[in-house]
Amino acid sequence: MADYVFAPPPVAALPVEGQEGLFPIRRVLCVGRNYAAHRREMGGDDRDPPFFFAKPADAVIGPGVDPAYPSRTKNLHHEIELVVALKAGGANVPVDKALDLVFGYAVGVDLTRRDLQNAAKDKGQPWDAGKGFDEAAPMSAVKPWSGPAPQGRIRLSVNGQTRQEATVDDMIWNVAEVISEASKLWRLAPGDLIFTGTPEGVGPLEPGDRVEGEVEGVGALAFTVAPAAAS
Ligand code: MN
Repeated sequence: MADYVFAPPPVAALPVEGQEGLFPIRRVLCVGRNYAAHRREMGGDDRDPPFFFAKPADAVIGPGVDPAYPSRTKNLHHEIELVVALKAGGANVPVDKALDLVFGYAVGVDLTRRDLQNAAKDKGQPWDAGKGFDEAAPMSAVKPWSGPAPQGRIRLSVNGQTRQEATVDDMIWNVAEVISEASKLWRLAPGDLIFTGTPEGVGPLEPGDRVEGEVEGVGALAFTVAPAAAS
């Protein structure tokens, strides 16, 4: 066993529905603008190809953890998303083989410091500070899955008021296409998560807000935005 100069960080992981073992997280990739109405609300064109950004694996927080309102923002946004969890990988995976890589699905919220993301867009700078901050990816447990990808309702409410509601089937690039496209940019591997994009209705969150999200047939998550950390 290798010697480290200090203890290595813990492996980021999520519970698996109906099983004892945890799903170990390797990388977190995210698709931007994958629902037509959200793409239009963000100022994009329906014919744009898919694009990806990433969050660090340790940005994921599992069921029962309340994210703190993050630093350096006055405009924290929610984005409810179907998340694909991979049990296998590869590069240049054809669309008709892509679903063979899937271990299961989960529900995730792509928390976004929208003001920092917009400032980065304006300056042609990277999105990491807007998207990849601590606790930026609250998630449900992973539900093991085989066969066709989920196609049901996706929904998010804040304090009981529905903010986002669509069907996963509305995605511009479907799950198999998203996996295939990602595999052209990165060699995928077991433990990779892919956030597949959010429908329209994104909006701000404040400390104390209760957020509930679900994807029909996949699962649900709920958290309360905690006060900003003192230090
Ligand atoms: Mn997103």
